[in-house]
Parts: sequence; structure tokens; C-alpha cells
Amino acid sequence: MLPEPIKNLVDQLSKLPEIGPRAATRLAFFMLNQPDDYLKDFARAIEELKQKTKVCQNCFNLTTDTACVICSDTRRDQNTICVVEDILDIIPIERTKRYNGVYHILGGLIAPIEGLTPEKLRIKELENRIKNLQQKDKNKTVEIILAFNPTTEGDTTALYLQRVLSSLGIKITRLGRGLSTGSDLEYTDETTLINAFLGRR
Ligand SMILES: [Zn+2]
Repeated sequence: MLPEPIKNLVDQLSKLPEIGPRAATRLAFFMLNQPDDYLKDFARAIEELKQKTKVCQNCFNLTTDTACVICSDTRRDQNTICVVEDILDIIPIERTKRYNGVYHILGGLIAPIEGLTPEKLRIKELENRIKNLQQKDKNKTVEIILAFNPTTEGDTTALYLQRVLSSLGIKITRLGRGLSTGSDLEYTDETTLINAFLGRR
């Protein structure tokens, strides 16, 4: 019933999370009524999304350069590494404006039932990163802050990392206090997060 171009757009929009066919149709008609310039900008933003987005070779954050804005910021302490499950976990921590170290994105948490074994995560990369830092300056301590959600997977991953990294002679702490079991870092308020950082052990 719908003309082909509208139907095509509705089909694409329906694939987005939380967008059903009715919402997709509404959006398609909304866009049909927008100025050409807006639609061109919109199309270009989508086209460039994957073309221009790269992964930081140091921490695996997203970037448009070789190193991300956090890793290339010389005012940040490169010897304090906050290890997180994924990129979205960086956002609430950065929002607190109280963390001055860098990050390491693991790319998941250990969950053997879902096939997520330690080898599938960026643990080797973390080890190499720590070793490189230690080689660069032997007198500086490296601190690893494990900032995982307080879930079974978070606990398993923290215990695993504490075990494999213990031989490297670094300080390993974990966020904990104030974060209730099963809660999600992404939705944790700033005060709770700041307290969890201050109370890390
Ligand atoms: Zn980075």
C-alpha cells in the first residue's frame, strides 16, 4: 500500500531497537516532511558512522584517530587503568569528572555459558599494556581499578583478573562499596559512583 521508497525506509527503521512497525511508519512520514538539507545531513551521518569510527589501539575506546581523546590527554595518569566491560561504562565514570586515569575496555565479562571465555576478552592486551608501562618507568606503580557491574559475571571476571595479574606486582582494586548487587554501572548515579571510586579496595 505504501510507495516503495517509504516502505524501504519503514523496513530499515523497524530494525532499530524499540521501534515497532507503527513507530517506524510515523518516523518515515515525519522524515518525508523534513527539508532536503536535514535529510542529506542525516544520511551522511549514518554513512560516516562506521567509515570514520575507529578503535583506540591502546584502550579499545572508540575514536576517529589512532588514539582516543582520553589516551592522548597528557594530563591524565596513564598508570591508573580503570578496566570496564564495555564502552558505555566509560560515560557515567567520565560524567563524575573525578577520575583522572585512563581505561581499558575488556569487551565483555567472563560468562562461560554464553561462550565468553577469558580468551575472548582483551585480557592479553591488558597484560601487555601493564608490562609496557612497567618497562617505561620501573619506579611508577601501576594501578588497575576493576569497575564491573556487581553481578556474578562481574565477580567472576574480577577474581580471574586478580589471579592472572597478581604476578605483575601491581596494585589491583575493585569498585564495590555503595554499588548494590546486580546494579548496572551505566545507570548508577554520580554520587554513588564517586563513593565507589573513593572506597575502592
Ligand atoms: Zn584510548
